[in-house]
Amino acid sequence: MIRLYVPDPLQAGASVTPTADQSRYLIGVMRLSAGEAVALFNGRDGEWRARLVEVAKRGCRLEAEALLRPQTIGPDLELIVALVKRARLETIVEKAAELGACGVRPVITRRTNADHTNVARLQAIATEAAEQTGRLDVPKVAAPVRLEALLDAWPQGRRLMFCDEAGDARPVIEALAPFAGDAAPFAVLIGPEGGFAPEERDKVRALAFATPVSLGPRILRADTAAITALALWQAALGDWRA
Ligand code: SAH
Repeated sequence: MIRLYVPDPLQAGASVTPTADQSRYLIGVMRLSAGEAVALFNGRDGEWRARLVEVAKRGCRLEAEALLRPQTIGPDLELIVALVKRARLETIVEKAAELGACGVRPVITRRTNADHTNVARLQAIATEAAEQTGRLDVPKVAAPVRLEALLDAWPQGRRLMFCDEAGDARPVIEALAPFAGDAAPFAVLIGPEGGFAPEERDKVRALAFATPVSLGPRILRADTAAITALALWQAALGDWRA
């Protein structure tokens, strides 16, 4: 069944008008006709079976019928990633959604040369990946901020897995082991192609909430590092253990 993210409240009988793009996809691409079923989720009310009740030139309308799966919440895991080239950042956002991150925060570091990105496009990629992967929520893509500002306003209780390529960090499995079982919110930090500047690295390593980790003896590209780090976190502390 086709899955669509919609912002609308979902309950039995709820009427949902998909966006123009979604309508085009349902009617134009997938050739659905009135009476056919689609799955809807909004990140709050679980997944609902809905039926296409109206098909018109300008769009269509769906009606929610029955709850397919109640809402569940995944682990509180964010990905903080330095702005890297557009194609790579898009891959990172898509894979973060597949790997169960609940948010992606692009950051500006000393060695990033970009200071903006198309957040709406990244959010659309995250939404499509969430629809495709079967999750019941969509990771939120934040607007880029400076890494230092983010660290200075760090939320109480969230831990940081600092992916540190410099070589003397502990192996990731060993470094995460002490946190098994405490279900603390976490974030993973991945640097830019040029790596972290020494002052940045010193600053992050000195933070009480940060745990530097090594992802092995080879330098990984930011996209590989992000995917690897999220997967290892999910396996060590997240919902891959169930
Ligand atoms: N400064 C590096 C390249 C940075 S790779 C160089 O020597 O050119 C981009 C980011 O991926 C790094 O900042 C780090 O967060 C992560 N990364 C890559 N390889 C890693 C490794 N072996 N261990 C931990 N983190 C790694």
